[in-house]
Amino acid sequence: MTDPMALVPPDLLERVVRGWRDMSTRLVQMGRDRPEGDRGVFVNPAAERGSTVLFSSLEAMDRAGHGRYGPELIYGAMGSPIQHRLEAVIAEIEGGTHAQVVPSGLAACTLPLLAYLQAGDHCLLSDSVYGPTRRFADRVLRRFGVDVTYFPPMATETELQALVRPDTRLVFAESPGSHSFEVQDIPMLGRLAARAGARLVVDNTWGIGLFNPFAHGAHVSVQALTKYAAGHSDTIIGAVTVASDADWRPLRDTAIQAGQTAGPDDCWLTLRGLRTMGARLERQAATALGVALWLQSRPEVHRVLHPALPSCPGHEYWARDFSGASSLFGVVFDAGFTTADMTAMIDGLQHFGIGASWGGYESLVLPTTGGISRSCLSVTGAGPACRLHVGLEAGGLLVDDLARGLDGMSAARAGRGTD
Ligand SMILES: *Cc1c(COP(=O)(O)O)cnc(C)c1O
Repeated sequence: MTDPMALVPPDLLERVVRGWRDMSTRLVQMGRDRPEGDRGVFVNPAAERGSTVLFSSLEAMDRAGHGRYGPELIYGAMGSPIQHRLEAVIAEIEGGTHAQVVPSGLAACTLPLLAYLQAGDHCLLSDSVYGPTRRFADRVLRRFGVDVTYFPPMATETELQALVRPDTRLVFAESPGSHSFEVQDIPMLGRLAARAGARLVVDNTWGIGLFNPFAHGAHVSVQALTKYAAGHSDTIIGAVTVASDADWRPLRDTAIQAGQTAGPDDCWLTLRGLRTMGARLERQAATALGVALWLQSRPEVHRVLHPALPSCPGHEYWARDFSGASSLFGVVFDAGFTTADMTAMIDGLQHFGIGASWGGYESLVLPTTGGISRSCLSVTGAGPACRLHVGLEAGGLLVDDLARGLDGMSAARAGRGTD
């Protein structure tokens, strides 16, 4: 078995796993009850299920309703005790003050767009946003009279300034971007948004706990908790975090008006998943770095899109702003390969599942060319590409699996005589 970890320089490994190790202790301690006096407590808080909340009087019920910006228990659709506990934990991990848990990562992307935009506004979105976020902007925001412009994720401040309009009210970034992995200059986007009087929203799913959007000029952070937080491929859930009352009130009001909440069992699973996120990711991030470096040494590979490697667009922003890397990255193959070559390689893999989403304990692979929409994309002039999510399996097993697949790709190309 090839050991990909032999390829990893110790200082780079430390740079990639440090953030996960540093957050492990906090993840164990956050959002738990402490035993007091003679009162014992379960280690894990229970998930209480409920819709109706009973009050002692109408006046008490009325008072609870005024507490909707806090964790008061009002009605099941406005959150349960376990949801509010998860919200406090997410706000702390993200570095904000208030969080709203919602039923999916996509709901977390759409909630700030609904909360902060109105007819006649203009919104700037990174070209590399998660596909369904883009579809929501194109099909729903536009239908409600919001104008949408996509910007190249690696655009300079001057290029972006030219896209800002007097009616620009929101800038939506995702760093690194879905599928193409550009790490964005968030502080620059923060300055741009501030000058325009707009809010900067960052989809921070990849960088959970590794990047603090609020310390870098963002107003809103979005998390698909479905991924590393829940961490076991069995829960769909999301969260939106803010760092000021002015950003919180419209967000919370819109969440209530749109009926956005998450079931107590999903909140409970996510809180439970978070306890081990640091340990899981310390291992997964290390293996992913090994696999990425091993892929870089292969003749079939044109470019590895891993934020911790200089071959990834925006690597310098990762180095400046992130305390580690996660276990999801892209691979672009040489121009001589066809999509059919890559499809045969992927279909033949034994240890990578084929399927949507990521963030669980198991490795996954997905093609990233063909189906994704971009209006101004950066990775061009090469062959087919795929995205790897590295799980908890042994790194040697994963690279041996990939080696068989890549050998097959090379043999197919040699057979065509175009090498
Ligand atoms: C998966 C993902 C989402 C959506 O999360 P779901 O829970 O699957 O709806 C949003 N943003 C990013 C970056 C994602 O990877």
